[in-house]
Amino acid sequence: MQLYQEQNIKIYNSLSGNKELFESITDGYIGMYVCGPTVYSNVHLGNVRTFMSFDMIFRYFKHLGYKVRYVRNITDAGHLENDADEGEDRIAKKARLEQIEPMEVVQRYTVDFHNILNKFNFLPPSIEPTATGHIIEQIEIIKEIIDKGLAYEVNGSVYFDVLKFNETRTYGKLSKRNVEDLIHNTRALDGQSDKKNPQDFALWKKAEPQHIMRWPSPWSDGFPGWHLECTAMSTKYLGEQFDIHGGGMDLKFPHHECEIAQAEACNGCSPVKYWMHANMLTLNGKKMAKSTGNNILPGEIFTGENDILSKAFSPSVTRFFMMQAHYRSILDFSNDALEASEKGFHKLMEAIDVIDDLPKGNTSSFDISAWKQRCYDAMNDDFNTPILIATLFEAVKFINQTKEGKAEISAEDHTTLKQTVHAFVFDVLGLTAVGTAASSEDGDDKLSGAVELLIRLRAEARANKDFATSDKIRDELAALGVQLKDGKEGTTFSVN
Ligand code: AMP
Ligand code: ZN
Repeated sequence: MQLYQEQNIKIYNSLSGNKELFESITDGYIGMYVCGPTVYSNVHLGNVRTFMSFDMIFRYFKHLGYKVRYVRNITDAGHLENDADEGEDRIAKKARLEQIEPMEVVQRYTVDFHNILNKFNFLPPSIEPTATGHIIEQIEIIKEIIDKGLAYEVNGSVYFDVLKFNETRTYGKLSKRNVEDLIHNTRALDGQSDKKNPQDFALWKKAEPQHIMRWPSPWSDGFPGWHLECTAMSTKYLGEQFDIHGGGMDLKFPHHECEIAQAEACNGCSPVKYWMHANMLTLNGKKMAKSTGNNILPGEIFTGENDILSKAFSPSVTRFFMMQAHYRSILDFSNDALEASEKGFHKLMEAIDVIDDLPKGNTSSFDISAWKQRCYDAMNDDFNTPILIATLFEAVKFINQTKEGKAEISAEDHTTLKQTVHAFVFDVLGLTAVGTAASSEDGDDKLSGAVELLIRLRAEARANKDFATSDKIRDELAALGVQLKDGKEGTTFSVN
């Protein structure tokens, strides 16, 4: 029996506007697609928040024993400067400004994205496909939509015919916009556009002579429209109908609305069972964004090098800060909020540190199994991490009381308590107690990974009272120039 058979998850589905009981299309398996970054600049903390929300969701599904195929793409072509199919390709523009190849831009910021996510202890997705790696699939979808009479070609570009589509299906159902309003609210065509109607969107754009990111197609040398890549890659790896599609709130319209229209036009069925949208991280009350400069970079937080910060904060503290808010609530970033999170995080880690040393009695003065189910209930209620954390703090209080002799725990409950705290804190919330790559002087991720492994083995040895092994690990690492330091947040290390 897998855990997921005992737990009923409710997910807020943006499509219906309701919390719905989650039932995967295939029992025991989940297909999840999340729109990835457009790799034309460093990810800011707002981007990280959205991806972290889905990392937590991925982690919880895995914890419950589901087999999850998690696809998160890299947008490396086709995303123009504005949503109305106008302006330069974001990556091509950066390449032009920096006088480098577009693929150098892509490489640089994909590496940055991975480095940052590693520091925050993200699990890698199952597949991380790129738009440029799926041009053929995108062209095939366009052909299919043209064949169905729902797209038209003008001067080498192909557009999706929103009004025609809306005659038999519904455009706007995710973002709750109706086509009539769209017609009234969309800027009139300026005479330069090839579109029949302003609400139509590009499936293929003919490249101007100066546009260097171009591929041959039946219509012109050009490039795919931004929305198409996600339809191509989600269908290819998850099928015509899959369980979960996620992204930030700001992607609902037009991006996800267009994805639905493309998939329905092509396959005749609604592609996604549960649409999930993560809310925004704000700074000074405004959305963090690349374009406005109102943002903070993760690297600035790890070093403290930003005027709004009083000091550096670790990736785990930052992760804890994010997990203290529900993924569908707006979260405002501030130094004070991070300082408060740091205190809470230390309190949690201190309690975890002493679990092993708690005296065990015959009975428990705290109902551990009811508390354990409350942890699950919090996560089952649309991944309510703030309630989960509040519930974990009930255990912190109990641990501290037991340590002081004011409460009692039985040996059996002690095992359940330890396993449950570890499962939710480390596996589900993805927090880390040990020195991370961000705290290692030389930032060598591989070395960090290896040392962290040894730190975990040493902790296990100590838990088993095998002090000979734990001392051996510490001393031999020291001989190699790696110093371990046991502290409040667990064990950290430095390299001499
Ligand atoms: P982009 O690279 O701009 O396509 O954005 C990548 C992801 O970050 C998308 O899912 C966006 O919705 C999300 N995102 C952008 N800004 C924020 C923000 N301030 N807070 C949370 N998520 C954001
Ligand atoms: Zn997408």
